[in-house]
Amino acid sequence: MNVFKFGGASVKNAEAVKNVGKVIQLFKDDLTVVISAMDKTTNALEKVVDSYMNGDGKCFEYLQEVKDFHYQIMDELFGDLPEGKAGKKHPVFEEIHNTFVEIEWEIEDVPTREYDYVYDQIVSVGEIISTKIVSAYLNHIGVNNIWVDVRNIIQTDNTHRDARVDWELTEKLAQEKLALFCHPEPVEGRNIIITQGFIGSSSENFTTTLGREGSDFTAGILAFCLNAKSVIIWKDVPGMLNADPKLFSDTQKLNNISYREAIELAYYGASVIHPKTIKPLQNKNIPLYVKSFVNPNEPGTLINENTSEDSLIPSYIFKKNLVLISISVRDYSFIMEDHLSHIFGLFSQFGVRIHLMQNSAISFSVCVDNNQQKLTRLIESLNSKYLVKFNDNVELLTIRHYDNETIAKTTQNKEILLIQKSRNSVRMVMK
Ligand code: ASP
Ligand code: MG
Repeated sequence: MNVFKFGGASVKNAEAVKNVGKVIQLFKDDLTVVISAMDKTTNALEKVVDSYMNGDGKCFEYLQEVKDFHYQIMDELFGDLPEGKAGKKHPVFEEIHNTFVEIEWEIEDVPTREYDYVYDQIVSVGEIISTKIVSAYLNHIGVNNIWVDVRNIIQTDNTHRDARVDWELTEKLAQEKLALFCHPEPVEGRNIIITQGFIGSSSENFTTTLGREGSDFTAGILAFCLNAKSVIIWKDVPGMLNADPKLFSDTQKLNNISYREAIELAYYGASVIHPKTIKPLQNKNIPLYVKSFVNPNEPGTLINENTSEDSLIPSYIFKKNLVLISISVRDYSFIMEDHLSHIFGLFSQFGVRIHLMQNSAISFSVCVDNNQQKLTRLIESLNSKYLVKFNDNVELLTIRHYDNETIAKTTQNKEILLIQKSRNSVRMVMK
């Protein structure tokens, strides 16, 4: 069995959904196919949640946009019903309609539950709808498949929006339930399961989500639990590139990198795969391919245990619009462990994510995301005990497998505020 993952861009419109059908038909083995919400639906549903929670009266209007978007795609996919059924809508229309009605019920009354809980109940619908449409379309064109609600398999705690997986229970359910769906002698010689990324279920049976862009992780979880032969993440790029093509003109594809290298790149912010995806695959030595859904026969990038090609090509990872904060002790005493533990406590309390840190005798510098709200509160708290200075709108560049030339090329006309070097990576905060 292989696990496929199709992200939002690969199901962004009717044409894209049709292409998913073509890609799946290229393969002959059993497949578990994990699919995200269509295009920017997750963002659009976040808007519905925000509006509902702050009571600005626009949530139904925002939901209507999400509905129109999906109905348009369905019209294009199911408009050509075979003769005899002409004029009759495909049953998926009613199914999707009912799913939307459930959200409408949810947002009719004033909110009584906390934001994160409500978020998961509403935003998860993007994945439910997307998979129902794709599954119905594939059956419609004769690619027989079974739609599975992944919430019956992926069990989590109740940390809404960032749920932790209960691996033991999930593994047991995956093996029991997915095997149940799979016919021992399927009609076309193989089984196809269509299911959702990103979502799970808490022990109280409420929907949870695994964090934004979490569908890759779902593919990793299911592959681990089902001992898959391989995972293929289908993207709109030819594979993992050594830099973001939106920022660099001459990118190169990485043909084969190790799990370790992939985790490092994802950690530094390469956005091709979700950082949590690799560990379950590495644990069972399951190869991961990142391939283009536009050119599915091209080899893409292979991620496995082979480290021999890791350092062949330098990779560049840019993070923009960060803030560099420098914290020093007012009385010129040294920054000691007790200060650091107090400082870290505040960062964790206010949920400010640290991208890079460095300390000297009397000061401690950290580079963080520019989240105004959180930062203002953090800096207020720090101010009572420390002298705090900051530099906003800085960028952090990480180069894996750097040399002098790559550094010189990327720092031209830039002021370097801080630099950190290890054997494999150089990280620079610049303005
Ligand atoms: N639809 C979710 C998101 O956009 C999960 C995913 O696409 O991986 O974050
Ligand atoms: Mg997505």
